[in-house]
Amino acid sequence: MKTKLLYHTNSFTYECTATVVAVEGDDIALDATVFYPGGGGQMADRGMITWEGQDYPASVLAMHKRNDIIWHTLDYPPPPIGTEVVGTIDWDFRYQMMRTHTALHILCGVIWKEFGVQVTGGQMYPDRARMDFAMENLDKERIHYIEDKINQAVEADYPLRVYSLPRQKALMLPDLVRTKINLLPPEIEEIRIVEIVGLDLQADGGTHVNHTREVGGIRITKTENKGKINKRLEIMLDSLS
Ligand SMILES: [Zn+2]
Repeated sequence: MKTKLLYHTNSFTYECTATVVAVEGDDIALDATVFYPGGGGQMADRGMITWEGQDYPASVLAMHKRNDIIWHTLDYPPPPIGTEVVGTIDWDFRYQMMRTHTALHILCGVIWKEFGVQVTGGQMYPDRARMDFAMENLDKERIHYIEDKINQAVEADYPLRVYSLPRQKALMLPDLVRTKINLLPPEIEEIRIVEIVGLDLQADGGTHVNHTREVGGIRITKTENKGKINKRLEIMLDSLS
């Protein structure tokens, strides 16, 4: 049994019809889902699941992924196995996440290109994100420089491409090796790649926009010294007008 991850093939799909394939307590597993379960620094989706005979739509309170199955925790008694349901994500929240996630990849790409420095961690929130870099010097001048470069990348409107590569092929690409894909579990034979064409290449399971201009303006709002060679950058996205 395996959930079809519709968000992996098209991050702009916000609704789908699916069948309940397993029930455990308040959790249901579906044969297909548009809900991102969380992971890689991206928060899980929120939204509703509806089916015939309900008194009100069920909210998805939490999500988790176990093996190849995505579980949705409901605030409503789950329907029996075999029920056809409609899952709808909170699109405003998701789109904000997609913009933020792509913004972080722009930041990674710029910092790698300009300084040859690796990411050591990161976390996204709906309108802001933070990322840690193995960087020694992060003075005011450098912060302004980085902010200029990431906004130039937004303006350049680079396209994003999502595809998968066989593990052995992926391991030969230096731009990918920097993100430590060699640490991925050996049973993963196909690596999902998110490429900002001309800027960044990463093994990634998250959801992204199609072009960098969709991200809008990015501001660096905070920096923090997390050690001699570890610096934290916080970014915030301008709201879309
Ligand atoms: Zn990512």
